[in-house]
Amino acid sequence: MKKSDLILVLNAGSSSVKAALFETGDEPKELLHFAMSNVNEKTCEARLKIDNEAGGRIVDETLATGFTHQDCVELILSKISALGFEHIAAVGHRIVHGGTVFAAPIVLDADNLVELKGLIKLAPQHQPHNLAAIEYLFETMPDLLQVGCFDTGFHRTLDPLSQLMALPQDIRDKGIRRYGFHGLSYEYINGQIDDVSDEKYEKIIVAHMGNGVSLCAIKAGKSFATSMGFTALDGAIMGKRSGSIDPGVVFHLLENEGMSVAEVKRIFYNQSGLLGISGMSNDMATLVASDAPNAKLAVEAFCRSIVEQIGRFTAVLDGVDAVIFTGGIGENSGLVRQKICEKLGWCGAVIDPIANDGNINDKGHLQISASQSKVALWAMKTNEELMIAQHVIERLA
Ligand code: ADP
Repeated sequence: MKKSDLILVLNAGSSSVKAALFETGDEPKELLHFAMSNVNEKTCEARLKIDNEAGGRIVDETLATGFTHQDCVELILSKISALGFEHIAAVGHRIVHGGTVFAAPIVLDADNLVELKGLIKLAPQHQPHNLAAIEYLFETMPDLLQVGCFDTGFHRTLDPLSQLMALPQDIRDKGIRRYGFHGLSYEYINGQIDDVSDEKYEKIIVAHMGNGVSLCAIKAGKSFATSMGFTALDGAIMGKRSGSIDPGVVFHLLENEGMSVAEVKRIFYNQSGLLGISGMSNDMATLVASDAPNAKLAVEAFCRSIVEQIGRFTAVLDGVDAVIFTGGIGENSGLVRQKICEKLGWCGAVIDPIANDGNINDKGHLQISASQSKVALWAMKTNEELMIAQHVIERLA
């Protein structure tokens, strides 16, 4: 490998680390994909899976219980080297929060790292892990170019009314506003849509449905409104997170049910959503395969919450040309797409059930709308890691 050929992308979540190694060229080519789960879990073993460029699984290992985020970065680097790849030219990081200051990707240095640490309180579940990986690489590979790409960045164009929270000015002055997340996914989909369709869509709603779930209303290529808010707790029902809920519930649990702040937080972030409703799993594939009444209820409630958000965004966009489903659920669950689209007849959307039964093609898309549909419906594969790699290549250039 030539020295300039390799880019590593790191995407550290609260209990997972994803990474990808890319070879640069006209188009960045993914050589390895890493998925590490159960990271930092005190009760279960972490797991590492590595896929090669053809998507074949080449490593599936159980790791120690309590395997930390730093352990993950060390292991990823040692696996890359053991698999014969050397001389990483740059690393791109997904950083969850860029606040109001950072929108476009930045070359990371000691100064902006300090500023990013100041945003930890806005994204305590993710930001510390994102920054710890950067710091670790500063210490161990000080000459390495590191680029930070922000999940909030794409939403810096939000309509002022979408950003506003109806709170007093002095509270809003503390930075309390809608930021929005999943920006790298939306940016990627937004970049793809012109390539996959002959039609030019002015008003698009993208539903990113993975473990975290959010929707984005894109107007003329820019984020106009989005469902996640000040934190990634707002909006649609998620795997373990509640989504939007009357804040009065929080006061009630604190004041009348004797719960601590930490307990309430744990409930809203880790024990709610699909898991909370079903009482069995946060995993959509598990729920759609189950006959348990509460599993069915969770799936119905999830689809309803997506329909509600689509309705809301269709109103603020004053119409919709295309609805795009992405993320693990959006890309893979025809059943969930069907249930949602069946409730969109009011805006002229008609799903083609046969097309919807198909799979996303190797270019990453699947049109699922019937020919008479007034709204184009798509399932599209997102690729946040590739989006980050492209930003790193721009910086290298
Ligand atoms: P993350 O947000 O962690 O990146 P993903 O985007 O990979 O997560 O999405 C994970 C979700 O996708 C899980 O709920 C999983 O069950 C769901 N999923 C994946 N494949 C299917 C499928 N065939 N049917 C239903 N849900 C699926």
